[in-house]
Amino acid sequence: MLGFSLAALLGCAPVERTIPTEAEVVGPAPVVRRHEFSRPIMGVATRIVIYHKDPAHARGAAEAAFARMQALDDVLSDFKPDSEVNQLCERAGEGPTAVGDALFDVVSRSVRFAHASDGAFDVTVGPLVRLWREARMTGERPPDGALREARRRVGWQNIHMDEAKQTIALKDRGMSLDFGAIGKGYAADAALDLLREDGCPVALIDLGGDLALGDPPPGRDGWRVRVEFTGQANAGRGVLVLSNCGVATSGDADQFIIIDGERYSHIIDPRTGRPLRDSRGVSVIAQDATTADALASAISVLREEDGLKLAATFEGVRLFFQNDDSR
Ligand code: AMP
Ligand code: MG
Repeated sequence: MLGFSLAALLGCAPVERTIPTEAEVVGPAPVVRRHEFSRPIMGVATRIVIYHKDPAHARGAAEAAFARMQALDDVLSDFKPDSEVNQLCERAGEGPTAVGDALFDVVSRSVRFAHASDGAFDVTVGPLVRLWREARMTGERPPDGALREARRRVGWQNIHMDEAKQTIALKDRGMSLDFGAIGKGYAADAALDLLREDGCPVALIDLGGDLALGDPPPGRDGWRVRVEFTGQANAGRGVLVLSNCGVATSGDADQFIIIDGERYSHIIDPRTGRPLRDSRGVSVIAQDATTADALASAISVLREEDGLKLAATFEGVRLFFQNDDSR
């Protein structure tokens, strides 16, 4: 009798399709695939690689990440007359200016790297960078007077920040900030953060060679990154398998000028006001791309011995030096 009642009850139960049909059970599950997108950002070729099962979702997330990097360029570029940083520099010597979150954050981090590297990394090198950038175009060494004048306006200690009010004051008129040594890493990190928030943690951002790496691709231990290194401590060349970290390389392999037989790098030693004179490069692996980018530039200035000391003050940093044997 009981069995009958149950059967009747089941028979009368409202129809609800919580059990998958046979077609649903055997139908193809969405496959995680590799999606790659590229676009010029900050004047360099930029790639985003995402592993995701939904191509449309990957595309939308990549679009948002490109837009984020582009928006950061509008804030940080010293090439764009209307960028937020150039507007800040126009008010140098005129007291505190309220700035947006990104600019405040980049300047805060830049000041910390300047402090840690004892001024080898210094975003106030702008006036010197501009003079030497012009020299790379004209082929003529900047006049000594102009170099002396520019040097007087360099000094990270003259950046004053008020965290509560989110303001920045550049102490002296004519000061100019240049994020060439940190902006790409910062933008790559910001883009990767956005992808993670958007459900795409398995992703890579390559902003002109500065890398922000997310979770490893499916079935692998990490992303394969090729580095070359010829320093005494670690001679060789190889493919590293990396994830959830940043990678950046500094050096003047492409950006240098020879004037009267002397080679001048695009990296300036802020302590002397002069560009580096050799072409040694260094690749840095760090916890994020911002740190890797800033440290690579700082360590180019500091050289191997002091560079290794600076690197040791940051967790999880590895260095790979490249000597140019042709010189
Ligand atoms: P990177 O290729 O990341 O080493 O950055 C080099 C760029 O950073 C240069 O082209 C300049 O715009 C800027 N720069 C040069 N020297 C320094 C320095 N000592 N500290 C901070 N930025 C620098
Ligand atoms: Mg750098």
